Amino acid sequence: MFENVLEVGENPDELIVYAALGKAARSWPDAHAIVHALLELDERQTLVLASGAAVGIIETGTQAPLVLSAVNNTVGRWSDAERFYARADAGQTMWGGLTAAAWQYIGRQGVLQGTYELFGAIARTHFGAAPSSEGTALDGRWVLTAGLGGMGSAQPISARMLGLSSLTVEVDEAKADRLAATGALDVVTSDTDAALGAISAAARSGTATAVALIANAADVFAEIAGRGVVPDIVTDQTAAHDARYGYLPQGYDLDTWRQRRESDPEGVEADARASIAAQVRAMLALADAGAVVFENGNNLRVQAVEHLGEAAADEVNRIPGFMEAYLRPLFARGIGPFRWVALSGSTQDQRVLDDLASRLFPARPEIARWIDLARRHVPAQGLPARSCWLGHGERSAFAVAVNELVADGSLEAPVLFSRDHLDSAAMTHPRIGTEGMRDGSDGSTDFPLLDGLLLAATGADLVAIHSGGGGYSGWMQSAGVSIVADGRPETVVRLRRSLDADTGLGVLRHAFAGYPEAEASVAAGGETGDAPVTWLQRSAARGLDPSTGSGQAKLDQPNQRIDQPNQSIEENR
Ligand code: NAD
Repeated sequence: MFENVLEVGENPDELIVYAALGKAARSWPDAHAIVHALLELDERQTLVLASGAAVGIIETGTQAPLVLSAVNNTVGRWSDAERFYARADAGQTMWGGLTAAAWQYIGRQGVLQGTYELFGAIARTHFGAAPSSEGTALDGRWVLTAGLGGMGSAQPISARMLGLSSLTVEVDEAKADRLAATGALDVVTSDTDAALGAISAAARSGTATAVALIANAADVFAEIAGRGVVPDIVTDQTAAHDARYGYLPQGYDLDTWRQRRESDPEGVEADARASIAAQVRAMLALADAGAVVFENGNNLRVQAVEHLGEAAADEVNRIPGFMEAYLRPLFARGIGPFRWVALSGSTQDQRVLDDLASRLFPARPEIARWIDLARRHVPAQGLPARSCWLGHGERSAFAVAVNELVADGSLEAPVLFSRDHLDSAAMTHPRIGTEGMRDGSDGSTDFPLLDGLLLAATGADLVAIHSGGGGYSGWMQSAGVSIVADGRPETVVRLRRSLDADTGLGVLRHAFAGYPEAEASVAAGGETGDAPVTWLQRSAARGLDPSTGSGQAKLDQPNQRIDQPNQSIEENR
């Protein structure tokens, strides 16, 4: 997996995997030391990593993780971008992204279903789509967005899956050409009229098209707003979170950008934020003209406010974040970006795994529908992998079934399970994963840290706790997990415990915060009915009304579960 994240990463020579600066290891000597340690590691030992450098090996026993990793966790007062860049330049730390340093990145495949779920939720929320017919409501519609990098390049593919046309603005032609070579783009042009013409032609002919426009997003968004052209949906996935390395300012070309980052980094940051603010102004104008506008997890609004000043915050924050606006009901049920990787490298194993996922969850037909779409639309990158949004109880059920297939030889080799760190329990970022939490816990890092502790306690194979770096310094804390189904009978217990602990904590966190979907999940034993968790405090008893997330305490609601010891949990122990 370490080699795989580099193989599918954006700039392997510099160990950079994605999101501008997210790295797999701190330096090449550190990378070699990690690989050497992994190859020598005994099953009773744990390799300990600090910010992408191998520190040592500790005797822990066979049930303990093989790798424990902490990346750039820094006391609050020192968690700022300036201090991060200085320490990173001195070789003292790095940013691990979410999945980069935890060796879980599978290229754009990893975020593709998230973007698909997002467009689907928008179709239901704004365009009257019924569940499972989102594509019909999006026919003839189009999204204006930007960024065709590691994650952003998933956007045109996800849009096409739902019959939605896309116009994606990207400054780096090489990124567009790379994606076009996979067949995911129909048109690459540097002419705005040609790009808009292709979108209109597709709408007239009732087909979906994917257009890349080689230009600066700030210029194009303002121009489109100025012309009175109104897209149906508007967002952005440049790496705007990092004003120094992630967003090309207006008036720069790629070469000037690289040079000025060295000679005048503060000047570049100021210029980038001014351009982001111009882009955000255009997005607000498009919202006023009727477009559905949202931020897709890249701190765009924060950067705009840095430039415009706090007085502009209310205006800028009219743009909602994607999690609060669309995806939280799924996270509340522990449904999030689960993934598996066929370590054999065999596409036949990939087929066996897809078939299993398609038939294992008849109560949620959307899973089989996703697998079918993914098989047809998702270009392969690196080891055969699939991202699939499974929920509490489903992930462990799938992993245990896979373990049997490894044992009986239906699969050629073990299978690794993992997920994005942006998941139900695993992430705190008050402008991304936890924006607008009903109990005000947007900035609390308790749950990702508890998640990491629980994952280690339940015997996952790799557990990582990451804090933000670069433009995300001081903004995020996350936990990552990988666990391998190797076909051994004793692995079943670890698979079940760790995967259920991960999603179970996610459900509890949302129940604790007052989300009714989570309360229902607790009552039902997860999506399968087979994943009990014990909940000790109803949100109502803490003064949160689950229907609104606020309001009067309903202290008369007894806690039904507190006095019902959970039989299955006791048995598992
Ligand atoms: P990346 O660095 O690989 O790609 C960013 C792309 O934006 C590059 O191709 C760059 O050339 C382009 N770009 C920069 N400035 C531009 C401008 N002014 N106009 C047009 N294009 C410009 O980053 P990535 O991995 O694709 O991630 C993008 C952002 O998405 C990051 O901020 C990341 O943190 C965020 N992200 C969100 C989610 C989510 O779940 N919503 C998931 C992963 C990443």
